[in-house]
Order: sequence, then structure tokens, then C-alpha cells
Amino acid sequence: MDLSYIVNELGEERENYFNAVAPPIIQTSNFTFKKIDDLRKAFEDEMGGYLYSRGLNPTVDILRKKLAALDGAEDCLVFNNGAAAIFAAILANVKAGDHIVSVAKPYTWVQRMFDVILPRFGVTATYIDGTNTANWEQATKNNTTFYYLESPNSWDFALQDIKAVAALARSKGIVTLIDNSYCTPLYQKPVEMGIDMAMQTATKYIGGHSDTLGGVLSGSHAMMKKIFDSEYLNIGSGIQPFNAWLLIRGLRTLPARIDRITQSTAEVVKFMKVHPKVEAIIFPFDESFPQYDLAKKQMKGACGLFTFLLKTDKMDSIVRFCESLHHIMMAVSWGGHESLVMPKCAGIQPKDFDPVNRQHRYIRMYVGLEDPAYLMADLQQALNKVI
Ligand SMILES: *Cc1c(COP(=O)(O)O)cnc(C)c1O
Repeated sequence: MDLSYIVNELGEERENYFNAVAPPIIQTSNFTFKKIDDLRKAFEDEMGGYLYSRGLNPTVDILRKKLAALDGAEDCLVFNNGAAAIFAAILANVKAGDHIVSVAKPYTWVQRMFDVILPRFGVTATYIDGTNTANWEQATKNNTTFYYLESPNSWDFALQDIKAVAALARSKGIVTLIDNSYCTPLYQKPVEMGIDMAMQTATKYIGGHSDTLGGVLSGSHAMMKKIFDSEYLNIGSGIQPFNAWLLIRGLRTLPARIDRITQSTAEVVKFMKVHPKVEAIIFPFDESFPQYDLAKKQMKGACGLFTFLLKTDKMDSIVRFCESLHHIMMAVSWGGHESLVMPKCAGIQPKDFDPVNRQHRYIRMYVGLEDPAYLMADLQQALNKVI
């Protein structure tokens, strides 16, 4: 299916709403019925029609069709944010006594789920260095039922060999979920590589304007129905119609924004890589990246986020650099129009800062839609202040 078709036409029935180009926001909680038989059918299979907006909603459905097609998946569910999508996907697929194998350092709230919430229900998790496929097999126990992948990681961009881990899981009947937020389905389609469920936060690139949250979960229709019938309806973490509408709006320009960000990131990475105040950069499509060959093999592109280390062992210098930026903002998240930095040391007490630990010196940058020359000038003046 053409990307342009998905973004501009798929799922839209314009003749049903005055041939309006932009779809309506069906801002309703419930839907009426004329026949008791029809109402009974809706109770029996809520995924089969419109009953109540905690379940299906027509504006959300337009978005679902587009996002499932983008992922090359049979179906998808859209949640109020990415964390909710991950929570529902895992909760629906583990039970007391089960064991999960996960990449080391997954997204913050995934780690919270594994460390704090699931142990209360008798589910345990083992973190592994997922870059080596043999580690997955080694960590798998008799009661392992779930593999959690994130490729690339959003700080150091560590990758997994997705096809190999998916094949291993399939051979053992283990369910797989991957966080595909960095790549988006434009640059990586994990479901087509054998992964059961692909998740991406729509808050980042799909929304694209830092004005809404959203989370996408794609996979087989059977898996999506299983999650819809229990966790999706029960937790009530589905996306609201207005936010779904904002995400449809974001999708219209997704390919153009990703193209632009890819070009700009390449320019900014090139500038930072040779800058005398920069010790190193970490970016999956840079030849210095330890898994460069795998990145090139399984990803169509890389953009937006990269991490760099300044040539300094002082936290003060990192602080001065970040606080000296005039245009590039300091904030969590990414994927919007605005360029951002996020220093790792913001999450560390100053007394615990250890310059020998490279991770403490990480500064992550997100390259947005501004002119790259404008961004590089801002970086240059802030780098001048690093001593
Ligand atoms: C932001 C993010 C999430 C969570 O998404 P929300 O929409 O903020 O809940 C998950 N994974 C990664 C890699 C993210 O950057």
C-alpha cells in the first residue's frame, strides 16, 4: 500500500460527512440503537461496532486503519499514550508464575512495571544485553512467556537483531513486544520481521507538534481483539476522539517531517562529530556505531535523536552548555517541531555524578524542523562556553 494513500485516504469515508477533507471529531460517549437485537450483538462483541467510546469510536477508527497499515499489521489499537499501550500489551499476555526476558534499560515506565508492579502478581523479569541474540536464549527459563525488545534504545541506540530474536521466540511459543518509537514504521516494520506486537509512542513523531499524547499497538487481529476485550476496555486507556483527530492531522505530514529531520540530523551529527569540544557522538547510522552493520541491515533510516559527550569531566560544563542554548530547548520527549537537549546528569544527584561513567556525561539531542544552520549556530555558541 502506498504511503501517500495511507496518509491521505485510507479509512476516510468523506461522502459520509459532507465530503469534508478533514474528518469530523465524533465527540460522543455513546451510540444509540433502534433494535434490541443490534444492541445485544454490540454487547456480545464490542469490537464489532459502536456502543460506547471507551471501546470503539469512528474518529479513532480512521486513525487505527492508517496506523495498522503503516505497520504492515492486521490491526492496531490506539491508546491515550505509549506507556498505556505497553502496559495493556504486557498485562494481557502474562499470568502469575510467568517470567519475562527484557532488554537492559528499557523505557522508564516499562522498567517500573517490571520492577514494582508485576512482582506483586508473581511475574518476574530478567534484563539482558539484548545486542547478543545468544543472551536471549540463555536467559530463557521454562516459565518464560514474554520477550520485551526496544530497538533502537532511545539513549544509546542499542539494537537487537529483530528477525533472529523473533524467530527464537516463535520456536519457543514466546510472545514478543517491541518498542519501535525511534524508527516509526517508516524506518522499521517489526511485525513484518516476525514480532508479535509493535508499539510506538504517537506522542513523538506521529503527533509531531508536541500538543498531544498517544500510543500505538499493532499486531494480529486476534491479539488486538484479546487486548481490546479485556485490558483496553477495562483499564479505559483508549485515546480520546480529539487527540485521535490531532494524530490523523499529524500523520498527513509525517513522511515530509521525517525526510526533513533525517537530512537535518545528518548535518548536525556531522558538525558535532568533528567539533573540538565534542569527545564522541552516538548515532546508529554513523560508521563509529558498534552495531552499524545491523542498523543498516534492519533500519531504512535513522533520524532525530543522537547522543554526544563533551570533552569535559565537569558536570558544571555540561550544565553551562545546556543552559547557554538560546533556541534549542531543554525538555523531555522528542518528535515535535522543536529541537531539544536532555542531559543525563539531570537525573543524577550532583554528589553522585561520576565522569568516569560515560553515561553520566550523555547529552541527548533531538533535531526538530528548524533550519540546521540555525541549530548549529546555537550549538556553536554554547560549545564555546565549555571548558
Ligand atoms: C516517550 C516514550 C515512550 C512512552 O510514550 P508516552 O506516549 O510518553 O507514554 C515509550 N518509549 C519510548 C522510547 C519513548 O521515548
